[in-house]
Amino acid sequence: MFRRTVFSMAAFALAMLTLTTAQQRQAAVKTVRLYVFENGSIRGLDPKLFNFTREELKEVDFTNTSYLIVHPKGTLMFDSGAVEDSHFKGGGPVTEGIMTATKPLLPQLASAGYTPSNITYFAMSHYHSDHTANANAFASATWIVQKAERDFMFGDKPEGIIQPAQYSALKGAKTKLLNNEDFDVFGDGAVVIKSAPGHTPGHQVLFVKLPKTGPVLLAGDLYHYPEERTTGRVPTFEFNAEQSKASRAKIEAFIKQAGAQLWIEHDIATHAKLPKAPAFVE
Ligand SMILES: [Zn+2]
Repeated sequence: MFRRTVFSMAAFALAMLTLTTAQQRQAAVKTVRLYVFENGSIRGLDPKLFNFTREELKEVDFTNTSYLIVHPKGTLMFDSGAVEDSHFKGGGPVTEGIMTATKPLLPQLASAGYTPSNITYFAMSHYHSDHTANANAFASATWIVQKAERDFMFGDKPEGIIQPAQYSALKGAKTKLLNNEDFDVFGDGAVVIKSAPGHTPGHQVLFVKLPKTGPVLLAGDLYHYPEERTTGRVPTFEFNAEQSKASRAKIEAFIKQAGAQLWIEHDIATHAKLPKAPAFVE
């Protein structure tokens, strides 16, 4: 009895300590931060899939990226990588088809001082498997998803670039379900999920107001190559190409009005310049 009391008191103290550390870390955050995580690359893509010739593209390869937004009121993880952390047996790099990752995601999150259990909100740009690899790890967060996207993900036979086992745990997650609409995550306009369907039924992008960098739009797969932006071409495998074009027009008007930068998630040049976790963008 005594022993059990001592043990539970120790466990309680440890729990309080963990809680205090997480609370202290969060309390120390006075302005919005953005952490960039490196989730590897995609090489050997056929430009034809994107309606380009090799000569028309400056760079054919993709980088894979995910982001953590830390706000004074909580955290939002956006996307979750292309290779599952569990596939790193004895270190990296891990190559799966055309994708290669040199490091797992959760240790990068830990380097920033967070574990999935500290994450308040989880959102993905869309369900393609180069964005969902570690989605199951974030099932304790509140999942922000468009209804059309969720319906497809948990439909009878989800087809395409999709691996349902990577996100199956989200089915039971606390969910903020959106109906082709935007969502101001922390209520002050600093972190806003914006509906941008077409690439998938409920594709979404993320607007973040950073104190020093200024407003940034994390574009997900609204575009893959900067050349899509200048030519207006869309990939061959869009869920709804006309919807993609309408979403692009809407988001371009928004970023013009907001004076925001646009960061294409797969663009190597954009992310080469950015600091990586544990450093962050302010
Ligand atoms: Zn995609």
